[in-house]
Amino acid sequence: MREILIVGGGYAGFYTAWGLEKKLRRGEARVTVVDPRPYMTYQPFLPEVVAGSVEARHAAVSLRRHLHRTRLIAGTVTEIRNSARTVTVRPETGPDFDLHYDVLVVTAGAVTRTFPIPGLSDQAYGLKHVEEAVAIRDRLLTSFDRAATLPRGPERRKLLTVTVIGGGFSGVEGFGELLALATALLKHYPEIDAGELAFHLIEARDRILPEVTDRPGEWVVRSLEKRGARVHLNTQLVSAQDGRVVLSDGEEYDSGLIVWTAGNASNPIVHNHTDLPVDERGLLTVRADLRVGTDTEVVPDVWAAGDDASVPDLAAGRPDARTVPNAQHAVRQGKRLAKNILASLRGRPTKDYVHHSLGVVATLGLGRGIFQYRRLVIKGFPAWLMHRGYHVLAVPSWERKIRVFAVWATAAFYGRDIVSLVSVQHPREAFVSSGAPRRSEEPKDAVAG
Ligand SMILES: Cc1cc2nc3c(=O)[nH]c(=O)nc-3n(C[C@H](O)[C@H](O)[C@H](O)COP(=O)(O)OP(=O)(O)OC[C@H]3O[C@@H](n4cnc5c(N)ncnc54)[C@H](O)[C@@H]3O)c2cc1C
Repeated sequence: MREILIVGGGYAGFYTAWGLEKKLRRGEARVTVVDPRPYMTYQPFLPEVVAGSVEARHAAVSLRRHLHRTRLIAGTVTEIRNSARTVTVRPETGPDFDLHYDVLVVTAGAVTRTFPIPGLSDQAYGLKHVEEAVAIRDRLLTSFDRAATLPRGPERRKLLTVTVIGGGFSGVEGFGELLALATALLKHYPEIDAGELAFHLIEARDRILPEVTDRPGEWVVRSLEKRGARVHLNTQLVSAQDGRVVLSDGEEYDSGLIVWTAGNASNPIVHNHTDLPVDERGLLTVRADLRVGTDTEVVPDVWAAGDDASVPDLAAGRPDARTVPNAQHAVRQGKRLAKNILASLRGRPTKDYVHHSLGVVATLGLGRGIFQYRRLVIKGFPAWLMHRGYHVLAVPSWERKIRVFAVWATAAFYGRDIVSLVSVQHPREAFVSSGAPRRSEEPKDAVAG
């Protein structure tokens, strides 16, 4: 039986495994997915997790629930040695071990790109994982609770100041949703005035949302500013030490919540720990049929897709065009990958990956959004409805769609939940402080029972 090994069970990896499961004949091949997380993260929902509009658990699509015929290994691949057809896996506990494969699929995605900015790693949150989205939400809610009991002054001002760095898709969506959440909270916190909120979006370039054209991008800036936010274009973060934000234009202020969404970097497993061909951006070199290699030199039985691969964009009509790193491509590449692997196992010809973009749709906070398809631009409430409609249909499985929709439907009547559960980070605190003896204080002859 052939061993098909998939590194990374995110968008592209999950859809590849799912596609293979449905079509593989009994005994034809065994599929294994290695991922440190037991779920695929539906990243487009993270801004709504931040806002409390989507339950955190609903953005996590369980691999075990949906992949019934796939072997799942919880671990991180630390090295790919294709010359020996082996990967090294580091499990959460226990020693590293090697896995052999006949067919390899590399779908490990990208990682958040950071820079050595003072204070950044101590102060900022990323927005790529469920736990980050939950922590951002809890931080804002806790800040409101604390600010409400403080007198006006620098400490209270800091708590009510939010900074998001990066005006790309995830930054603008996260910023818009945070702003909408903070504005909605005001009615529950009569101690806090709208004028006390300070929201800063920092972007190094002269425009935000590179995925849309100039005029819709300008409209997004204006609409955020109308809601009381400040958008700093052509500006970079210089320092974030102790929450003191210093910007390249000289402005300084204290910020209680700092979110970093300034782009993606290639996954270290791909650009540092493999003997597979990698381009100058650290992405795997992939042919149009998603095999690793070039038109003239193919690496046998190795495939890649998604954010860790440089895939030719045949729909763009330019020879050097590559597909942009987004879910729209990762899902479709995963599906094509499954079909091409089956074709190659059965000695049939593979097909090239071609996808014409369906356009771009982004949420800017509850009831607000932007959509662009070529020259067609839709703004505001209809675009937001399209965003929700698209994503509830796109999240894998009916089970997930129904759960997400049920939360939205409930919120339409009762609003979103506004309680910070930051205390889940220290679950034993209440128990220990209630007087239960600490381990060192336990009597030596204590008997469990
Ligand atoms: C906040 C946010 C909002 C977004 N919104 C949209 C949107 O609205 N529309 C859109 O099209 N795109 C959106 N995107 C982009 C989209 O989510 C990504 O392009 C997509 O997830 C890429 O899929 P992937 O399979 O390549 O990587 P991922 O989905 O990131 O999956 C990679 C997987 O590999 C695993 N992994 C990583 N390293 C290893 C290793 N060494 N060993 C084993 N496993 C490993 C990870 O744990 C992960 O499960 C958004 C992204 C973010 C962060």
